[in-house]
Amino acid sequence: MSVGNIAVLARFRPLNKLELSKNGHLCVDVSDDQKSLVLHVTQEEIYNVTAKKVVEDVLEGVNGTILAYGQTSSGKTFSMMGPDDITEDTAGIIPRMINHLFQTITEKSENCEFMVRVSYVEIYQEKIRDLLDARKVNLAIREDKTKGIYIEGATEQCCTQGSDIFTVLKVGDMNRKVSSTGMNERSSRSHTVLLLSLTQNIINPPSTKVGRLYLVDLAGSEKISQTGCTGQQLEEAKKINLSLSALGNVINSLTDGKSKHIPYRDSKLTRILQETFGGNCRTVLLLCSSGSSTNAIETLSTMQFGQRAK
Ligand code: ADP
Ligand code: MG
Repeated sequence: MSVGNIAVLARFRPLNKLELSKNGHLCVDVSDDQKSLVLHVTQEEIYNVTAKKVVEDVLEGVNGTILAYGQTSSGKTFSMMGPDDITEDTAGIIPRMINHLFQTITEKSENCEFMVRVSYVEIYQEKIRDLLDARKVNLAIREDKTKGIYIEGATEQCCTQGSDIFTVLKVGDMNRKVSSTGMNERSSRSHTVLLLSLTQNIINPPSTKVGRLYLVDLAGSEKISQTGCTGQQLEEAKKINLSLSALGNVINSLTDGKSKHIPYRDSKLTRILQETFGGNCRTVLLLCSSGSSTNAIETLSTMQFGQRAK
Protein backbone atom coordinates (compact mmCIF):
# COMPACT_ATOMS: atom_id res chain seq x y z
CA MET A 1 0.00 0.00 0.00
CA SER A 2 1.49 3.33 -0.98
CA VAL A 3 0.39 6.79 0.04
CA GLY A 4 -2.50 8.02 -2.09
CA ASN A 5 -3.84 4.55 -2.59
CA ILE A 6 -6.86 3.18 -0.87
CA ALA A 7 -6.15 -0.16 0.75
CA VAL A 8 -9.14 -2.49 0.94
CA LEU A 9 -9.27 -5.39 3.37
CA ALA A 10 -12.04 -7.83 4.12
CA ARG A 11 -12.70 -9.41 7.50
CA PHE A 12 -15.24 -12.17 8.13
CA ARG A 13 -16.47 -12.71 11.62
CA PRO A 14 -17.30 -16.20 12.92
CA LEU A 15 -20.91 -17.37 12.68
CA ASN A 16 -23.08 -16.33 15.61
CA LYS A 17 -25.76 -18.36 17.39
CA LEU A 18 -28.59 -16.96 15.31
CA GLU A 19 -26.84 -17.86 12.06
CA LEU A 20 -26.02 -21.35 13.31
CA SER A 21 -29.63 -21.84 14.42
CA LYS A 22 -30.72 -21.04 10.86
CA ASN A 23 -28.35 -23.73 9.56
CA GLY A 24 -25.91 -21.16 8.29
CA HIS A 25 -22.52 -22.42 7.20
CA LEU A 26 -19.27 -20.71 6.32
CA CYS A 27 -19.65 -19.66 2.69
CA VAL A 28 -16.50 -17.67 2.09
CA ASP A 29 -13.91 -18.86 -0.36
CA VAL A 30 -11.14 -17.05 -2.16
CA SER A 31 -10.31 -17.73 -5.79
CA ASP A 32 -6.82 -18.97 -6.69
CA ASP A 33 -5.55 -15.68 -8.02
CA GLN A 34 -6.13 -14.01 -4.67
CA LYS A 35 -3.38 -14.15 -2.13
CA SER A 36 -4.80 -15.72 0.94
CA LEU A 37 -7.69 -16.25 3.20
CA VAL A 38 -6.73 -16.29 6.83
CA LEU A 39 -9.54 -17.28 9.10
CA HIS A 40 -9.70 -16.27 12.74
CA VAL A 41 -7.36 -13.35 12.66
CA THR A 42 -6.70 -11.67 15.96
CA GLN A 43 -7.37 -8.04 16.78
CA GLU A 44 -3.62 -7.51 16.90
CA GLU A 45 -3.18 -8.87 13.38
CA ILE A 46 -5.98 -6.62 12.13
CA TYR A 47 -4.25 -3.67 13.75
CA ASN A 48 -0.92 -4.53 12.20
CA VAL A 49 -2.30 -4.77 8.68
CA THR A 50 -4.78 -1.92 8.79
CA ALA A 51 -3.72 0.78 11.16
CA LYS A 52 -0.11 0.59 12.21
CA LYS A 53 1.26 2.23 9.08
CA VAL A 54 -1.46 4.87 9.19
CA VAL A 55 -0.38 5.94 12.69
CA GLU A 56 3.27 5.95 11.67
CA ASP A 57 2.38 8.21 8.76
CA VAL A 58 0.30 10.58 10.86
CA LEU A 59 3.41 10.98 13.01
CA GLU A 60 5.16 12.06 9.80
CA GLY A 61 2.43 14.58 9.04
CA VAL A 62 0.52 12.48 6.49
CA ASN A 63 -3.27 12.47 6.94
CA GLY A 64 -5.11 9.20 7.23
CA THR A 65 -8.57 7.66 7.33
CA ILE A 66 -9.75 4.24 8.44
CA LEU A 67 -13.32 3.28 7.58
CA ALA A 68 -15.23 0.22 8.72
CA TYR A 69 -17.95 -0.73 6.22
CA GLY A 70 -20.51 -3.53 6.41
CA GLN A 71 -24.00 -4.58 7.38
CA THR A 72 -25.18 -4.26 10.98
CA SER A 73 -23.64 -6.94 13.20
CA SER A 74 -20.78 -7.64 10.80
CA GLY A 75 -18.06 -6.57 13.24
CA LYS A 76 -17.43 -2.90 12.45
CA THR A 77 -17.48 -1.71 16.05
CA PHE A 78 -15.69 -4.88 17.16
CA SER A 79 -12.90 -4.10 14.71
CA MET A 80 -12.69 -0.38 15.41
CA MET A 81 -13.16 -0.43 19.17
CA GLY A 82 -13.51 -3.99 20.46
CA PRO A 83 -16.29 -5.80 22.31
CA ASP A 84 -18.10 -4.12 25.22
CA ASP A 85 -15.60 -5.44 27.77
CA ILE A 86 -12.27 -4.64 26.18
CA THR A 87 -9.19 -6.54 27.32
CA GLU A 88 -5.63 -6.30 26.06
CA ASP A 89 -6.33 -9.10 23.57
CA THR A 90 -9.74 -7.99 22.37
CA ALA A 91 -8.98 -4.27 22.02
CA GLY A 92 -9.74 -3.02 18.53
CA ILE A 93 -7.99 -0.58 16.23
CA ILE A 94 -8.75 2.64 18.12
CA PRO A 95 -7.42 1.65 21.57
CA ARG A 96 -4.34 0.07 20.00
CA MET A 97 -3.77 3.18 17.96
CA ILE A 98 -4.03 5.42 21.01
CA ASN A 99 -1.48 3.30 22.86
CA HIS A 100 0.87 3.25 19.88
CA LEU A 101 0.58 7.02 19.44
CA PHE A 102 1.28 7.91 23.04
CA GLN A 103 4.09 5.40 23.32
CA THR A 104 5.79 7.14 20.41
CA ILE A 105 5.09 10.54 21.92
CA THR A 106 6.79 9.45 25.14
CA GLU A 107 9.78 8.07 23.25
CA LYS A 108 10.25 11.26 21.25
CA SER A 109 9.41 13.74 23.97
CA GLU A 110 12.95 15.02 24.49
CA ASN A 111 13.11 16.68 21.10
CA CYS A 112 9.48 17.32 20.41
CA GLU A 113 6.39 18.96 21.86
CA PHE A 114 3.20 17.17 20.95
CA MET A 115 -0.37 18.35 20.98
CA VAL A 116 -3.20 15.89 20.44
CA ARG A 117 -6.72 17.21 19.95
CA VAL A 118 -9.75 14.98 19.69
CA SER A 119 -13.22 15.56 18.30
CA TYR A 120 -15.98 12.97 18.28
CA VAL A 121 -19.11 13.40 16.19
CA GLU A 122 -21.98 11.39 14.82
CA ILE A 123 -23.61 11.93 11.44
CA TYR A 124 -27.24 10.99 11.59
CA GLN A 125 -29.65 11.84 8.79
CA GLU A 126 -27.04 14.16 7.27
CA LYS A 127 -26.80 16.17 10.47
CA ILE A 128 -23.56 16.38 12.43
CA ARG A 129 -24.01 15.99 16.16
CA ASP A 130 -21.22 16.66 18.65
CA LEU A 131 -20.82 13.62 20.87
CA LEU A 132 -18.80 15.69 23.35
CA ASP A 133 -21.46 18.37 23.76
CA ALA A 134 -25.05 17.19 23.52
CA ARG A 135 -26.30 20.74 22.87
CA LYS A 136 -24.62 20.84 19.48
CA VAL A 137 -26.90 18.87 17.19
CA ASN A 138 -26.42 20.32 13.73
CA LEU A 139 -22.86 21.47 13.11
CA ALA A 140 -21.77 23.01 9.83
CA ILE A 141 -18.73 22.14 7.74
CA ARG A 142 -16.58 25.11 6.77
CA GLU A 143 -13.48 25.69 4.71
CA ASP A 144 -10.79 28.16 5.53
CA LYS A 145 -7.36 28.91 4.09
CA THR A 146 -5.40 28.06 7.22
CA LYS A 147 -7.60 25.43 8.85
CA GLY A 148 -8.68 23.67 5.69
CA ILE A 149 -11.98 21.82 5.99
CA TYR A 150 -13.33 21.60 9.51
CA ILE A 151 -16.51 21.08 11.50
CA GLU A 152 -17.43 24.48 12.88
CA GLY A 153 -17.88 24.53 16.65
CA ALA A 154 -17.08 20.86 17.21
CA THR A 155 -15.55 20.35 20.66
CA GLU A 156 -11.81 19.78 20.49
CA GLN A 157 -10.45 18.12 23.58
CA CYS A 158 -6.74 18.42 24.25
CA CYS A 159 -5.34 15.09 25.37
CA THR A 160 -1.96 14.74 27.00
CA GLN A 161 -2.08 11.03 27.68
CA GLY A 162 -3.83 7.97 26.31
CA SER A 163 -6.26 7.80 29.21
CA ASP A 164 -7.56 11.30 28.28
CA ILE A 165 -8.73 9.96 24.91
CA PHE A 166 -10.36 6.94 26.53
CA THR A 167 -12.29 9.36 28.75
CA VAL A 168 -13.36 11.36 25.69
CA LEU A 169 -14.56 8.16 24.03
CA LYS A 170 -16.54 7.19 27.13
CA VAL A 171 -18.23 10.57 27.34
CA GLY A 172 -19.07 10.45 23.63
CA ASP A 173 -20.47 6.94 23.78
CA MET A 174 -22.59 7.87 26.77
CA ASN A 175 -24.02 10.91 24.98
CA ARG A 176 -24.69 8.76 21.99
CA LYS A 177 -26.65 6.25 24.05
CA VAL A 178 -28.69 8.96 25.77
CA SER A 179 -29.61 10.73 22.56
CA SER A 180 -30.51 7.53 20.74
CA THR A 181 -32.92 6.15 23.35
CA GLY A 182 -36.19 5.21 21.73
CA MET A 183 -34.84 5.76 18.26
CA ASN A 184 -34.68 2.15 17.27
CA GLU A 185 -31.05 1.11 17.20
CA ARG A 186 -29.90 4.40 15.89
CA SER A 187 -26.27 3.44 16.35
CA SER A 188 -26.49 1.25 13.28
CA ARG A 189 -28.00 4.07 11.25
CA SER A 190 -25.43 6.74 11.93
CA HIS A 191 -21.77 7.18 11.17
CA THR A 192 -19.43 7.83 14.10
CA VAL A 193 -16.38 9.85 13.32
CA LEU A 194 -13.43 10.19 15.68
CA LEU A 195 -10.90 12.82 14.66
CA LEU A 196 -7.39 12.91 16.09
CA SER A 197 -5.30 15.96 15.19
CA LEU A 198 -1.65 15.69 16.00
CA THR A 199 0.67 18.70 16.02
CA GLN A 200 4.38 18.22 16.63
CA ASN A 201 6.80 21.04 17.29
CA ILE A 202 10.23 19.58 16.78
CA ILE A 203 12.86 21.45 18.74
CA ASN A 204 16.06 20.61 16.93
CA PRO A 205 16.18 21.31 14.00
CA PRO A 206 13.01 23.38 14.45
CA SER A 207 10.03 22.30 12.39
CA THR A 208 6.32 21.63 12.74
CA LYS A 209 4.32 18.67 11.53
CA VAL A 210 0.56 18.35 11.52
CA GLY A 211 -1.31 15.14 10.80
CA ARG A 212 -4.99 14.34 10.99
CA LEU A 213 -6.55 10.97 11.42
CA TYR A 214 -10.20 10.07 10.94
CA LEU A 215 -11.59 6.82 12.36
CA VAL A 216 -15.02 6.08 11.01
CA ASP A 217 -17.51 3.42 12.09
CA LEU A 218 -20.04 3.62 9.26
CA ALA A 219 -23.80 3.12 9.39
CA GLY A 220 -24.99 -0.40 8.56
CA SER A 221 -24.88 -0.96 4.81
CA GLU A 222 -27.79 -3.42 4.68
CA LYS A 223 -30.47 -2.66 2.17
CA ILE A 224 -33.32 -1.21 4.12
CA SER A 225 -36.41 -1.98 2.15
CA GLN A 226 -37.96 1.30 1.13
CA THR A 227 -41.23 -0.27 0.23
CA GLY A 228 -43.63 -0.34 3.11
CA CYS A 229 -41.46 1.83 5.28
CA THR A 230 -42.64 5.33 5.93
CA GLY A 231 -41.86 8.52 7.82
CA GLN A 232 -38.69 8.51 9.86
CA GLN A 233 -37.57 5.04 8.73
CA LEU A 234 -37.90 5.95 5.09
CA GLU A 235 -35.95 9.18 5.64
CA GLU A 236 -33.24 7.25 7.49
CA ALA A 237 -32.97 4.70 4.70
CA LYS A 238 -32.68 7.39 2.06
CA LYS A 239 -30.01 9.34 3.95
CA ILE A 240 -27.89 6.25 4.63
CA ASN A 241 -28.11 5.19 1.02
CA LEU A 242 -27.17 8.70 -0.02
CA SER A 243 -24.08 8.94 2.16
CA LEU A 244 -22.79 5.42 1.55
CA SER A 245 -23.24 5.76 -2.18
CA ALA A 246 -21.55 9.17 -2.05
CA LEU A 247 -18.64 7.47 -0.29
CA GLY A 248 -18.58 4.75 -2.95
CA ASN A 249 -18.60 7.36 -5.70
CA VAL A 250 -15.74 9.31 -4.15
CA ILE A 251 -13.65 6.16 -3.71
CA ASN A 252 -14.47 5.12 -7.24
CA SER A 253 -13.50 8.43 -8.78
CA LEU A 254 -10.28 8.54 -6.76
CA THR A 255 -9.23 5.11 -7.94
CA ASP A 256 -10.47 4.82 -11.51
CA GLY A 257 -7.64 7.06 -12.70
CA LYS A 258 -9.77 9.09 -15.08
CA SER A 259 -12.17 11.19 -13.02
CA LYS A 260 -11.28 14.86 -12.85
CA HIS A 261 -14.09 15.75 -10.53
CA ILE A 262 -14.28 14.00 -7.15
CA PRO A 263 -17.83 14.42 -5.77
CA TYR A 264 -16.85 15.19 -2.16
CA ARG A 265 -19.73 17.63 -1.76
CA ASP A 266 -22.43 15.01 -2.21
CA SER A 267 -22.58 14.10 1.50
CA LYS A 268 -21.47 15.42 4.88
CA LEU A 269 -19.23 12.41 5.41
CA THR A 270 -17.28 12.73 2.16
CA ARG A 271 -16.99 16.48 2.65
CA ILE A 272 -15.47 16.05 6.12
CA LEU A 273 -13.04 13.45 4.81
CA GLN A 274 -12.03 15.45 1.74
CA GLU A 275 -8.55 16.37 3.00
CA THR A 276 -7.68 12.98 4.40
CA PHE A 277 -8.67 11.06 1.30
CA GLY A 278 -6.73 10.64 -1.92
CA GLY A 279 -3.68 12.79 -2.65
CA ASN A 280 -1.01 12.71 0.01
CA CYS A 281 -3.03 10.58 2.41
CA ARG A 282 -3.39 7.04 3.52
CA THR A 283 -6.83 5.46 3.41
CA VAL A 284 -7.91 2.04 4.63
CA LEU A 285 -11.33 0.59 3.92
CA LEU A 286 -12.06 -2.37 6.16
CA LEU A 287 -14.93 -4.45 4.80
CA CYS A 288 -16.68 -6.31 7.60
CA SER A 289 -18.86 -9.31 6.86
CA SER A 290 -20.43 -12.33 8.39
CA GLY A 291 -19.00 -15.55 6.99
CA SER A 292 -22.44 -17.15 7.12
CA SER A 293 -24.41 -18.38 4.13
CA THR A 294 -27.48 -16.77 5.69
CA ASN A 295 -25.94 -13.35 5.06
CA ALA A 296 -24.39 -14.14 1.68
CA ILE A 297 -26.33 -11.50 -0.24
CA GLU A 298 -25.23 -8.68 2.03
CA THR A 299 -21.67 -10.02 2.05
CA LEU A 300 -21.64 -9.98 -1.74
CA SER A 301 -22.86 -6.41 -1.76
CA THR A 302 -20.12 -5.44 0.74
CA MET A 303 -17.46 -7.05 -1.46
CA GLN A 304 -18.85 -5.22 -4.48
CA PHE A 305 -18.58 -1.94 -2.61
CA GLY A 306 -14.91 -2.70 -1.90
CA GLN A 307 -14.26 -3.70 -5.47
CA ARG A 308 -15.10 -0.20 -6.64
CA ALA A 309 -12.01 1.01 -4.83
CA LYS A 310 -9.69 -1.07 -6.97
P1 ADP B 1 -21.46 -3.85 13.89
O1 ADP B 1 -20.74 -2.74 14.60
O2 ADP B 1 -20.96 -4.06 12.49
O3 ADP B 1 -22.94 -3.68 13.92
P2 ADP B 1 -20.44 -5.49 16.04
O4 ADP B 1 -19.01 -5.09 15.96
O5 ADP B 1 -21.24 -4.87 17.13
O6 ADP B 1 -21.16 -5.22 14.63
O7 ADP B 1 -20.48 -7.07 16.10
C1 ADP B 1 -21.67 -7.79 16.35
C2 ADP B 1 -21.40 -8.88 17.38
O8 ADP B 1 -20.46 -9.84 16.86
C3 ADP B 1 -20.79 -8.35 18.66
O9 ADP B 1 -21.32 -9.08 19.73
C4 ADP B 1 -19.30 -8.64 18.49
O10 ADP B 1 -18.65 -8.76 19.74
C5 ADP B 1 -19.29 -9.92 17.68
N1 ADP B 1 -18.13 -9.99 16.77
C6 ADP B 1 -17.92 -9.21 15.69
N2 ADP B 1 -16.77 -9.54 15.05
C7 ADP B 1 -16.23 -10.55 15.74
C8 ADP B 1 -15.04 -11.35 15.59
N3 ADP B 1 -14.19 -11.15 14.58
N4 ADP B 1 -14.82 -12.33 16.49
C9 ADP B 1 -15.68 -12.54 17.51
N5 ADP B 1 -16.82 -11.84 17.71
C10 ADP B 1 -17.10 -10.85 16.84
MG1 MG C 1 -21.59 -1.04 15.49
